[in-house]
Amino acid sequence: MKGLVYRGPRDIAYESVADPAIEDDGDVIVQVRACSICGSDLHIYNGDTFSDQPGYCVGHEAVGEVVEIGRGVRQRRIGERVMLPAAVGCGGCASCLAGNVLRCERDLQQCYGLSNALQGSQADAVRVPAGDFNAYPIPEGITDDQALMLTDAAATAWYGCELARVAPGGTVAILGLGPIGLMAVEDAFLLGASRVFAIDPLPERRAIAAAMGAVPLDPADAADLIREATKGRMIDHVLEASGSTEALLLGLQLVARERTMAAIGVNLSPSVPIPFGQLFMHGATLAIGTCSVPRYYPALVPLIRDGRLRPERFITDRMALADGAAAYAAFDRRAGGTLKTVLTP
Ligand SMILES: [Zn+2]
Ligand SMILES: [Zn+2]
Repeated sequence: MKGLVYRGPRDIAYESVADPAIEDDGDVIVQVRACSICGSDLHIYNGDTFSDQPGYCVGHEAVGEVVEIGRGVRQRRIGERVMLPAAVGCGGCASCLAGNVLRCERDLQQCYGLSNALQGSQADAVRVPAGDFNAYPIPEGITDDQALMLTDAAATAWYGCELARVAPGGTVAILGLGPIGLMAVEDAFLLGASRVFAIDPLPERRAIAAAMGAVPLDPADAADLIREATKGRMIDHVLEASGSTEALLLGLQLVARERTMAAIGVNLSPSVPIPFGQLFMHGATLAIGTCSVPRYYPALVPLIRDGRLRPERFITDRMALADGAAAYAAFDRRAGGTLKTVLTP
């Protein structure tokens, strides 16, 4: 089969790779119908990787069809339409069954496409471990595009709002208006935010947030304008969704006393100069983390199905998987207002 393979920094190539095969009785093989590029894939693209061994398929957001099942698979069926949550667990322990794969009691949590340990899904097909759990049937009323957003971005945005403890009446600031940041703007309003400040250096991204009802701000003067707008009280719930250290440090300037900032953008810096004394004196909370995707399906599936959340509207580009190298380059340049790129094998 063919897939997008990480060869080295800024070198992702569409090439022949080994067909995925059942390695464990619980595995299923899914033929990919559509996959998407995530902001976190750009870290790999730019050489900021989780693995020093290149040569693996990238990608962790995909929907498709079950084409092969291991002998131990009980619930998945050949031909079933499934979505593949980016975060994978053993699927059998209490934590996984509660959707919290990051706390998998068998320590089998992982993500597609970060190393050779679990090949990515920007490919014709992908092996899904513990397929009964990790290949999730696409719920009735959910389109493929919506399901694709549910594999990571929509869940991560919701998780970010939860981590920032977004609550009715609170003020919210979101740094980084990629698809996840923009989805978080929508989530924050749905969760009752009184005002949402949307911060990004790109004016076209700020304009999208403004159209959703947020107050658009350039990072250069965001702190001053927010100080003025909140009469110095600053922000109850800050969400950093870009992964940039500058944005993280700006966010820490924005968080109000005894309130919370959540950092969900991928930032692999070994150290960040956090103003510890200020956080201490203010009693602020800094919450950091990555999302256990399936945990949010009970909330998100109905909200998306019934049109209260529309994460699919951030799909801006559609290309063939075979043009994946060009898609990555364009995505990296954020060319032409690219937000979410969907690739089709
Ligand atoms: Zn992703
Ligand atoms: Zn588990």
